Amino acid sequence: MRGSLPKYSRAAVVREFKAPVCLEEVPVPQQVEPGALVTKVHACSICGTDIHLWQGNLSLRVDLPVILGHEMVGEIVAMGEGAGRDSIGQDLKVGDRITWTHTSCGRCYFCTVLREPTLCQYSRKYMYVCMEEFPHLLGGFSEYGYVVPEAGRVRVPDNVPDELASMASCAFRSVMNAFDLLGRVDPLDTVVVQGAGPLGLLATAVAKVSGARRVVTIGAPDARLDIASAFGADEVISVETTSPQERLDRVLSLTGGRGADTVMEFAGHPKAFAEGLDLARRGGNYVIVGQLGQGEVPIKPSAIVAKQLRILGSFSGQAKAYWKALEFVSLHGSHIPFERMISNRYSLDEVDTALTRMKNFEEIKPVIMF
Ligand SMILES: [Zn+2]
Ligand SMILES: [Zn+2]
Repeated sequence: MRGSLPKYSRAAVVREFKAPVCLEEVPVPQQVEPGALVTKVHACSICGTDIHLWQGNLSLRVDLPVILGHEMVGEIVAMGEGAGRDSIGQDLKVGDRITWTHTSCGRCYFCTVLREPTLCQYSRKYMYVCMEEFPHLLGGFSEYGYVVPEAGRVRVPDNVPDELASMASCAFRSVMNAFDLLGRVDPLDTVVVQGAGPLGLLATAVAKVSGARRVVTIGAPDARLDIASAFGADEVISVETTSPQERLDRVLSLTGGRGADTVMEFAGHPKAFAEGLDLARRGGNYVIVGQLGQGEVPIKPSAIVAKQLRILGSFSGQAKAYWKALEFVSLHGSHIPFERMISNRYSLDEVDTALTRMKNFEEIKPVIMF
């Protein structure tokens, strides 16, 4: 289907790392390929990864210039042939809101043999692909977005507001992917969550709803730890007022001296990894999600052997994780105050201010609203 699409979309473009982003007019594809969609973006929340990309600190390859932003939700305004169903099998029509995934090729070792599409070696990733090439609109801070044919897409439940749907398209789906990799949470488990940013807060909620006996969230500042408590943390520990040894002592005293059954890392600081190895009990699980920077830290590898730890890295998430995140918000939004994570709303014209405040740790989850 071809509607009357505008010629250009205003978008926030990174042409040079660390420089202010430029608001530019980017062409809107006038041909929608079979299986593709064009969306009018409603909201795109800011993620720590946007800041890392903007500052040139990512370990992943970036093909400048790119449209920044990757946590978006939009309304379908044009549909290619055969795009009438989402990745879950739900009908799609013009006017429906969706979130959409990075792509996987379906024809590589990682897609086919490992069945891990997030590890696809030919993936096209939103905000990593040069905006000068068709279909141009592969970033979230843009009035319009293009969902390429091989991208997963998930319809947003009606009771999930735009701000929460957008954060479900990266932050929350990464958390859901981590829980998938972990497997089940036992009702007798103590889960320690490292980090009280958006991912740590969301993981706190999921661990509690999954039935963990006790969820301990470690992070800062106190305002975020208050949200962690509202999301279900039984105990919060501030990294601003405690030493690593004090935190370890506290976790040991809560667990009969054993340590946490599962530790989940969303803090992002390399030092958190070394600390997490100590916090996990013998035979425990350690899921690492937040480490996307280039930092290094000394660790004692023998701790992994001596404790027989199960260590899992979790990267990104596929369509099922997007769906689970949206369903979780839809189901639990009445008793978990997700909206407390949304620290501010900005227009596209204010994107530089929003990014700078995010970089300076003055935001939790700010959202660009269109
Ligand atoms: Zn993100
Ligand atoms: Zn692949």
